[in-house]
Amino acid sequence: MTESAIEFSPERTTPFLQEVMERSGQMLTACYQCRRCAAGCTVGDETGCFTPNLLIRTVMLGDRETALSNPLVWKCVSCYTCGTRCPNDIQTARITETLKKMAKEEHVEPMMPKVKEFHDAFVESGVRWGRVNEVEFMGIYESKAALREAKVKNYDAIVEEIKAQARLGLTMFKKKRMHTGFLMASGRREIKALYKKAQEMTTIDQ
Ligand code: SF4
Ligand code: SF4
Repeated sequence: MTESAIEFSPERTTPFLQEVMERSGQMLTACYQCRRCAAGCTVGDETGCFTPNLLIRTVMLGDRETALSNPLVWKCVSCYTCGTRCPNDIQTARITETLKKMAKEEHVEPMMPKVKEFHDAFVESGVRWGRVNEVEFMGIYESKAALREAKVKNYDAIVEEIKAQARLGLTMFKKKRMHTGFLMASGRREIKALYKKAQEMTTIDQ
């Protein structure tokens, strides 16, 4: 038996579509499904049929559950390739980022917990110092990942993860792609205040 198609329902579609458009700053309704974005998506091999245009269609049809939990939202690397190809200047990277934030706010079980932890660690480090310090950021990320594995007593996974990251870190360091210095932006207080304000605005809107 084939699954039934999602039916268009303005009552369900409009509030969700409006929220995504407002928060991402992208005019999703301008998408005419030409699939130029899909043809060039960097993570297309990993996300299978879940292409940027399908994500947009999902939001437009008001399928909130699928829009907040699909491979593209969790695997998009924000390379902006799709946006540069889009004839309507739709930046899917901003849409995936918005949906990821909404999924976190709504405590949706992340399809890829490591991506969520990476994202959390990046924001945490960036907001604290106004710059992301790679060593600190990786430390936060590894602690979050280890804590999750420890909760289910998966200690082997913790050891394997630390070994893998140490190997990767060493390779990057040798190729001068990793910096051990510590940087902080002079405007970090303003960045913190802006972040706090954005969080408050999101809470008020909910
Ligand atoms: S390239 Fe732009 S208009 Fe075409 S399908 Fe993708 S998002 Fe829609
Ligand atoms: S920004 Fe995301 S959706 Fe767009 S091409 Fe890059 S990985 Fe794909």
